[in-house]
Amino acid sequence: MKYVLVTGGVVSGLGKGVTASSIGVVLKGCGLRVTSIKIDPYLNTDAGTMSPFEHGEVFVLDDGGEVDLDLGNYERFLDVTLTRENNITTGKIYQSVIDKERRGDYLGKTVQVVPHITDAIKNWIVSVSLIPVDGKDGPADVCVIELGGTVGDIESMPFIEALRQLSFTVGQDNFCLIHVSLIPVLGVVGEQKTKPTQHSVRELRALGLTPHLLACRSAQPLLENTKEKLSQFCHVPNQNAHVAISKQLNFLSIATHPDLHEWTERAETYDNLTNSVKIAMVGKYIGLQDSYLSVLKALLHACIACSLKPSVEWIAASDLEDESAKLTPQAHAAAWETLRSSACVLVPGGFGDRGVQGMILAAKYARENDVPYLGICLGMQISVIEFARSVLGLERANSAEFDPDTPDPVVIFMPEGSRTHMGNTMRLGSRRTLFQTPDCIASKLYQNSAYVDERHRHRFEVNPDLIGKLEEAGLRFVGKDETGKRMEILELPTHPYYVGVQFHPEFKSRPGRPSALFLGLILAAIGQLEASLSKLPNGN
Ligand code: GLN
Repeated sequence: MKYVLVTGGVVSGLGKGVTASSIGVVLKGCGLRVTSIKIDPYLNTDAGTMSPFEHGEVFVLDDGGEVDLDLGNYERFLDVTLTRENNITTGKIYQSVIDKERRGDYLGKTVQVVPHITDAIKNWIVSVSLIPVDGKDGPADVCVIELGGTVGDIESMPFIEALRQLSFTVGQDNFCLIHVSLIPVLGVVGEQKTKPTQHSVRELRALGLTPHLLACRSAQPLLENTKEKLSQFCHVPNQNAHVAISKQLNFLSIATHPDLHEWTERAETYDNLTNSVKIAMVGKYIGLQDSYLSVLKALLHACIACSLKPSVEWIAASDLEDESAKLTPQAHAAAWETLRSSACVLVPGGFGDRGVQGMILAAKYARENDVPYLGICLGMQISVIEFARSVLGLERANSAEFDPDTPDPVVIFMPEGSRTHMGNTMRLGSRRTLFQTPDCIASKLYQNSAYVDERHRHRFEVNPDLIGKLEEAGLRFVGKDETGKRMEILELPTHPYYVGVQFHPEFKSRPGRPSALFLGLILAAIGQLEASLSKLPNGN
């Protein structure tokens, strides 16, 4: 196994994730098989408990792992399926070491950061790097490791030490370190400053690691003279990272020109798009756009497939509520104006009751005005509550999540495991949905397949006891799980595109292979859904 380690210096948020993913793409373009590991030096064992407000989206893997959003970038860039083990956190490492200590595995020894924690990190990296992630047998050729945080942080010290040891064990032909750094530009003349990078490289050196390449972020292209200064600290060529990496890793027979034509074509297509489509995103976490990163990417993939630029209109769900008409009338009016001027509505996943009433109003508006609607997870549950209230006349219908005492619980707590045990009640990861009929939009969009496997992250479900009533009134549950008790996809046959899904289709959308239901939403928004469905194989 050959390792490419990506570290970051000076400040956080420089784009280590994008650097690591892009390097993966270029190496893949050279004919290599690539896997990746993200290291997060925090104590949470996974990202499941972290707020999207603070940390961005929680990405969900096939195996149910709730992981850092960078793993979503890796899956999309490299077109791989990762495992929860591909996200290492300090919490996971310590937990594994402490578990071993309690089992008596270190009996008689003092358990310490060095060597016990560092050994656990090394062993984890080595064993995870061997897991095939691209559908082929056997391990990949290269494992790209991204170390979160900034070099010098107290939190990342055990990882730096473990990686130093790893670089020594695997030998220099098998280890390449890329350091991502910042070149600030000062004053009106725009002087490019290399000192912070110099310090950061020196810090890495002091810890026993030497970068082979520098990836510099700056507001301007780097000047020759800046590059020269930097190269005194790091002997690196200016461009063609793959050449430098393959030299360092001693890859003798890989392509010298990476095949990136698909990426180049997509980028060119995107740059030349002139038309756009307005999508209303009615959510709770709209302050930090990373909270819905995969949804945005899935919209982008679907729009590009329709030769459109996505124009995402963010609407804070609470602004749509009647209450806000009194408290913040301007925001209320603006939110409704934006909703009314959008070509389609998307209500994404979420937890807690903030903004729920506003989401219900958005779903009602879309249903009554034939505006294409896609409700994801919470967004599906919202559409059921709205339908029960407006069409069945059950005014207090609600989800047990928001009103445990509702007389009409149309959405109920239905964990797969124990109802009483607090931990592990979330239904997580890939589950199968069986189509109940070929005669529905969702099945056609999924190319008439009998089933589809998508990723889940929820505790609540549409109440199976009320399906009869809801269906009599016109709602159709066209996709269910294998037991038939869990509703997975709903549609409103009298509407051009009113679709709710209990799963998160955004997690499996890929550039060039958009998620079927996002594609359906965009096609419906531009009035081309019917024409496109009739062109599909076996479409009727
Ligand atoms: N809060 C809802 C549930 O737990 C929806 C979850 C989601 O949208 N991811 O079922």
